Amino acid sequence: PPAPSNEKIATHIFKSKLPDIPISNHLPLHTYCFQDRLSDDPCLIVGLTGKTYSYAETHLICRKTAAGLSNLGIKKGDVIMILLQNCAEFVFSFMGASMIGAVTTTANPFYTSAEILKQFRTSGAKLIITMSQYVDRLPKTDKDFTVITIDAPPENCLHFTVLSEADEDQIPEVAIEPDDPVALPFSSGTTGLPKGVVLTHKSLITSVAQQVDGENPNLYLTNGDVVLCVLPLFHIYSLNSVLLCSLRAGAGVLLMQKFEIGALLELIQRHRVSVAAVVPPLVLALAKNPMVADYDLSSIRVVLSGAAPLGKELEDALRSRVPQAILGQGYGMTEAGPVLSMCLGFAKQPFPTKSGSCGTVVRNAELKVIDPEIGASLPHNQPGEICIRGPQIMKGYLNDPEATAATIDVEGWLHTGDIGYVDDDDEVFIVDRVKEIIKFKGFQVPPAEIEALLLSHPSIGDAAVVPQKDEVAGEVPVAFVVRSNGFELTEEAIKEYIIYFVHAIPKSPSGKILRKDLRAKLASSMPLN
Ligand code: AMP
Repeated sequence: PPAPSNEKIATHIFKSKLPDIPISNHLPLHTYCFQDRLSDDPCLIVGLTGKTYSYAETHLICRKTAAGLSNLGIKKGDVIMILLQNCAEFVFSFMGASMIGAVTTTANPFYTSAEILKQFRTSGAKLIITMSQYVDRLPKTDKDFTVITIDAPPENCLHFTVLSEADEDQIPEVAIEPDDPVALPFSSGTTGLPKGVVLTHKSLITSVAQQVDGENPNLYLTNGDVVLCVLPLFHIYSLNSVLLCSLRAGAGVLLMQKFEIGALLELIQRHRVSVAAVVPPLVLALAKNPMVADYDLSSIRVVLSGAAPLGKELEDALRSRVPQAILGQGYGMTEAGPVLSMCLGFAKQPFPTKSGSCGTVVRNAELKVIDPEIGASLPHNQPGEICIRGPQIMKGYLNDPEATAATIDVEGWLHTGDIGYVDDDDEVFIVDRVKEIIKFKGFQVPPAEIEALLLSHPSIGDAAVVPQKDEVAGEVPVAFVVRSNGFELTEEAIKEYIIYFVHAIPKSPSGKILRKDLRAKLASSMPLN
């Protein structure tokens, strides 16, 4: 039959239940977030030491860091890499870079050397801010780049004070446009290897505004809140929905370096945490760990879970542990800035959301569900690929127009690779994924990377890696492998193959193997937590 004409195809577009709001996305990100707030209210609270930086102090150190970066030759458009666990210096560096129009690429400090090198090269970073224990894994290139450590600097590295103690009056005048990039997280998107996701001042401001600005915002943060920041800031979920949203709202951010249940519960109790942003493996710990009963968690009024699906049973189990709290999900994707939808139960006048729902689409944005085969938009209750459009989505993948065009279509819709539907109450439910990505504890594991590693084995003819459900991690990668013709290969042999190849075994001058160095290498490639 002839294809129906365009007019006859109904377009089903879903919007927020809240009206659109004016968004100040013409400003630079740091101006929008700090709003020249120079108060004594707590801004950053370092969990490990208890040290607190007020808004005025934080703003000043960010300005000094901006001047320090400029003194080291970082200019508008240059990229710096932050390779750190959550700490105050992370915030100073990110905001400082924003203040001079520079761009921050954030990387997981537990990455292997090869992974760091790849991101370093692809992003074109000129400076790395890290800790001394990670310096061994930094690129050994002949290209000139500066390494700054926040602790005692090893040889050829600078200490963070070159930034934090610079003269703030030396910040150069730079004109920052809304479409200038400010953050460059890496994500594999719907296919292939990790790519640089260009997020502009406008995209991040829009996304933060969609969550916390205006009357009745989704994430109703106030300056009396203490927000738990245990999810790594190198991931956009924590950087945006925890850090930037808190700064904009004037809330205190409790920085925790890594997840450890005892320390976490103690910090929640001591600092009277009111808002906890979590991922499903953390919900599992909070819902099931017996230690939880020994702590006072009555200060928590909101628990926001995101980055991976949260089952109804787990949601209910957590609810019984923190009965006073509103519990809801957000649905995000790095490329989408990242929040597509969020539970409105957090709002001033809460709209109840159903268990398992990811809330409704954020304001000032449009969401549609399309038939993955023919591309037509679908009405309520019909599952298909979720697409999002609005000023918050990425500008594109860095230097990769082909991958960008495969993700954002000519009409500006970003195709998520997630399968979901919108119910009669306009709530979004994610039911499946058509894209390749595996989510291990909320972290991306691109199957393409593991497949490439397996295919480099001479006896492996073909390989495919897919996720398998796992109670603790959400998903774990599992490989299907085809032996090359005539080769004998056992599962054991492949497991043994997943080892680390090095150019040489590190040895002392007398020829003794430096096992300590190899152990450090191993420790550094372990997944977070
Ligand atoms: P990332 O770019 O690392 O944030 O990963 C984005 C992907 O995580 C999404 O495209 C979804 O597949 C998944 N995801 C994020 N939030 C949720 C959620 N609340 N429920 C189900 N899947 C989610």
